[in-house]
Parts: sequence; C-alpha cells; structure tokens
Amino acid sequence: MIPVTKPYFPSREKLNSYIDGIYERQWLTNNGQLVQQLTQRLEDYLGVKNLLLIANGTLALQIAYRALGVSDANRDNKPEAITTPFTFIATASSLKWDGVQPVFTDIDPDTWCLAPNKIEAAITASTRAIVPVHVFGNACDVEAIGEIANRHHLKVIYDASHAFGVNYKGESLLKYGDAATLSFHATKLFHTGEGGAVVFKNKEDLERARRMINFGITGPENIDELGINAKMSELQAAMGLSVLDEMEKNIEARAQIWRTYEEVLPDNLQLQAQHEALSYNHAYFPVVFKSEAQTVRVAATLKKNGILARRYFYPSLDTVAVTAMRSSCSVSQNVASRVLCLPIYFALDIKDAGFIAELIKGVL
Ligand SMILES: *Cc1c(COP(=O)(O)O)cnc(C)c1O
Repeated sequence: MIPVTKPYFPSREKLNSYIDGIYERQWLTNNGQLVQQLTQRLEDYLGVKNLLLIANGTLALQIAYRALGVSDANRDNKPEAITTPFTFIATASSLKWDGVQPVFTDIDPDTWCLAPNKIEAAITASTRAIVPVHVFGNACDVEAIGEIANRHHLKVIYDASHAFGVNYKGESLLKYGDAATLSFHATKLFHTGEGGAVVFKNKEDLERARRMINFGITGPENIDELGINAKMSELQAAMGLSVLDEMEKNIEARAQIWRTYEEVLPDNLQLQAQHEALSYNHAYFPVVFKSEAQTVRVAATLKKNGILARRYFYPSLDTVAVTAMRSSCSVSQNVASRVLCLPIYFALDIKDAGFIAELIKGVL
C-alpha cells in the first residue's frame, strides 16, 4: 500500500543521542534545553525572529488568536474572522472552538489561496482578523491582504502549516502578518511527532504568548495572564532536532518525486499556480482534474492498485455545518470537488511516482 504521505523517520542514532541528553539532565518539559536549542535552530534555518514552539499546530493558531486579541474569554463579544474554506478543518474549527465565528470568503481559482478582492465585502463591525492559509505552501497575496488589514485595523494570522521553509521574494514567507503559524504534525514536511510554532511580528506579542502557553504563570508566586498548557516537551524537540539535521535530503527526495509527476502527467491537468517569487518546498502534489467524476475515477483506479491519493481539501468548509455561516464559496466548492493530492514523502520510490503518473494518464 502506498499512502498519500508517511512520516519522516530520522536516524535512530541521532535521536538516541538527543534522548541520552534528556536522561542526563533529567529534564522533560518546561522550556528545556532541547526546546531552546530547537527554537534557535529553527529561527536560523527559517530566517525569522520571535518563534515560539507550541504543543501542536492547532494550539499554535489558538495561541496566536489569543495573544493578538482576536479571541478572548468573553464569548458575548461574538468576534468574527475572515478565512478560507479551502483548507484543513483545523483553520476554521480552531476559531470556532475559541468563540470566533469563521466567515468564509472565496479563493482564487488558480492559486487556491484567499482571493483579496472578496475580503472587504465580508468585513463587519465584529471582524477582528483575517486568517488566510498559504495552502499547499503557495504564497497568499500577502501585499493585498496586508493593505486591507491596515485599512480596517484587522490582525492577520497566516496559517502557514504547509509553508515550512518557503521563501517569498528571497525571504521567509513567515514574516508576513502579525503572526504565522506552523504545524509540526508527523505527516508534515518538518515534524516533531506532534508540535507547532508561532512566528510573531512583534516581540511583545511573543512574550505575551510565552506566558499564555504556561498557564499565564510569570513567577513562582505570580499569575498575570489567563493561560493554558500549550508547551512543547523535550521529547518532541529531540525528534525535531533529529529531523532538522536531515532536512536537505528530505526536501531533495520530495522535489525529485514532484518533478517526476510534473514530467509524466499530461499537460492539460491543472496544477496550482504558484507565485513567481516563490521558492517552493515540494511538500504536496495537488492536481485538479476536469470533473468530479474524473477525480473519483482516478482515485478509484489508484486504490485498486494499492495507492491512496486523498481528496485534500474536500469538502469545502463553507458547506460544513460545524463551521459554516452565511456564505457560499462557489470557486472553492468547484476546486474542492476536483482536487486530489498524490502520494509524496521521503521514502517514496521515484519509480513508484512514475508508475502512479502513468496509471493516471491511462484513466484520462
Ligand atoms: C496540519 C494542519 C493544521 C493542524 O496542525 P496540527 O499540528 O495537526 O494541530 C492546521 N492547519 C492546516 C492547514 C494544516 O494542514
């Protein structure tokens, strides 16, 4: 069976050496040495400042909402945030879970990211933030979104869960917005088993968030903030450091699989239109077929051959009752009904990628 993705397993020896250190220091969590080391290494690797490691990517979003005042403990305020329906459910459910109503506006038919020209019409007196997603690692129209946010005094929190290591105009894409969040779930390009991070624009927001992830505790006898537990542990950081040490070969293997798909698949399939100033991380290979029927047919043929492609992201979240409100996004629904993500992960054989592409060709 070839799954759509598989976790990257770093050298066991390397991981063991980090775990040996944990045993020597007898320190398992609460901003330990490995968490500090991983924070520094990630800031250097990504070229960012103000990075805060978090227990997972969903809590990273929620900590960002809280630290930036998008969500608060007063549910009577009924805040809203404008976001995209073409994403993993966590983008929207994390808002709703925290008392912020997600308001979906439509995506661009080519980049599949939030369309800036649809945002303003959805802004109300209750809107506090825009939460766009750099979906599949593509860059949103960060300049246009930044302008709209400035004009209306809104916070911008990018869900950058797919955009690890992506550069835009020669710099990290994570520098855009008041915050950008990452997921380090096992299936993501870079992972810590479970984990995540927030990259804040401002140091004060980082410091507020740092207190929030540790119950709001600021000293042995001081609690100055409403907080929660969202800390990363030393074991998570040990996995992260081991994976980070091998990032280059991980990305190169994915890039080769990516290029194989691109070469073998017919030209008339729709691939994601990436911004020309983007340096891509090759984390995903999404394809949009001509019709939903064709998409389902391709998926069925692959499945018969032991290959699991997945309909990411389907259904479009504006049609999902737990998060939806007052909007209908036809472009997102249309793309979501025809999209399929093909298998891509470090351990996938190039020959298998070629075989998958040939199988798809045969169905079209
Ligand atoms: C993976 C993912 C998340 C959630 O991250 P977890 O670490 O699994 O909590 C949020 N948003 C997007 C777009 C994701 O792909």
